Amino acid sequence: MSHVFHRQCNQKLPAAVKGDGVYLIDQSGKRYLDASGGAAVSCLGHSHAGVREALHQQIDALAYAHSGFFTTETAEALGEKLTSLAPGDLNYAYFVSGGSEAVEAALKLARQYFVEKGEPQRQRFIARRQSYHGNTLGALAVGGNEWRRAQFAPLLIDVAHIAPCYAYRDQREDETSFEYGQRVANELEQQLLDEGPDTVIAFIAEPVVGATAGVLPAVDGYFKRIREICDKYGVLLILDEVMCGMGRTGTLFAHEYDGITADIVTIAKGLGAGYQPIGAMLTTEEIYQAVSSGTGFFQHGHTYMAHATAMAGSLAVLNAFENEQLVARVGTEGELLQASLKERLVDHPFVGDVRGRGFFQGIEFVADRATKAPLPVKTQFHARLKRSAMENGLMCYPMAGTIDGQAGHHVLLAPPFILSRSERDELVDKLVASI
Ligand code: PMP
Repeated sequence: MSHVFHRQCNQKLPAAVKGDGVYLIDQSGKRYLDASGGAAVSCLGHSHAGVREALHQQIDALAYAHSGFFTTETAEALGEKLTSLAPGDLNYAYFVSGGSEAVEAALKLARQYFVEKGEPQRQRFIARRQSYHGNTLGALAVGGNEWRRAQFAPLLIDVAHIAPCYAYRDQREDETSFEYGQRVANELEQQLLDEGPDTVIAFIAEPVVGATAGVLPAVDGYFKRIREICDKYGVLLILDEVMCGMGRTGTLFAHEYDGITADIVTIAKGLGAGYQPIGAMLTTEEIYQAVSSGTGFFQHGHTYMAHATAMAGSLAVLNAFENEQLVARVGTEGELLQASLKERLVDHPFVGDVRGRGFFQGIEFVADRATKAPLPVKTQFHARLKRSAMENGLMCYPMAGTIDGQAGHHVLLAPPFILSRSERDELVDKLVASI
């Protein structure tokens, strides 16, 4: 009998005992091709020599020093590297231990920024209905999934949710995708005007929506319009790149594609690549200075923040991206993965859409391709796909989100950046068989 309180409390899970490149191996020796990098985490596969070596070296020298007393060489080096690679003037990095912690830090920094500036009446956030920002109470409040929020209401912060950019479902036949993007972005302006723009702290969004929507890139021009609206009303733009960031979409930061800059960006998953728990929040000179020259104390922190060993591991992850030219590889190989998925699934009666960027691809399943009616909740399609894929030695990430109160089933694929072409073929074969 297991004494571990697993999230899936009513299921018996196999025990993973070893990692080998893009494969995980369980206690019986069965190999699973990791087609989702866990949840878009394991971008370097499960046995990267460079990261393991860096972790060993750091542990031998110094595992941990409390961030209230010391900085470390590895934290400084990682901060310098990340901020030098980030778009715009994201000049400061705040290190925590995961995605939700990074989002909490972002929400609190944004609020504190306005308090320091003498605008404490700004207390609300605007987010999008198809979104996931984490499971801690603040991050849960901004997340779009009502089912996740419902049993914890009332939540701690006040959030309005607007439409995401969801061309497959919402673009009209009489508009171009650019026009659609402008129309849906303009909902932000309407929401700001309805609420009174000077009561709003920030708009938070994932540049490419992850788990809640089976990967949902925005149409071109959408985020440029969002940035304009935020600037017009003095509202901050927080981009949550916890899932889509760190090279996953073929650029190091997903929003490089959109040609915009953000006031705060959160990253996590791929930054640790599965070797160490880590998250980070990046922010601008202006926001940093407001806090630094104001009270001089950011009212948020965690015991394990800026953990020396985690910093060393993540520095090695970024070095591996560079040395092995992995981010560019993700762009080109991702296109081939999408082409292969489309070729194999285009005629499938329950496949509505195949979409994504780089090694961040999603398939949306529907009951009817013509009407795009979602598969009913009672089919439990996501749970069945997960089971059949695991039986076939494939780990993928099927989810049920909600579309206007109905279940929307999809599967997210986020394989390691080192996926070879024969492994890609194996992935597609096993996925098609499992579906
Ligand atoms: N933001 C996004 C966009 C995410 O996808 C996730 C995790 N799926 C989180 C935040 C929360 O990260 P974590 O699970 O590391 O707390």
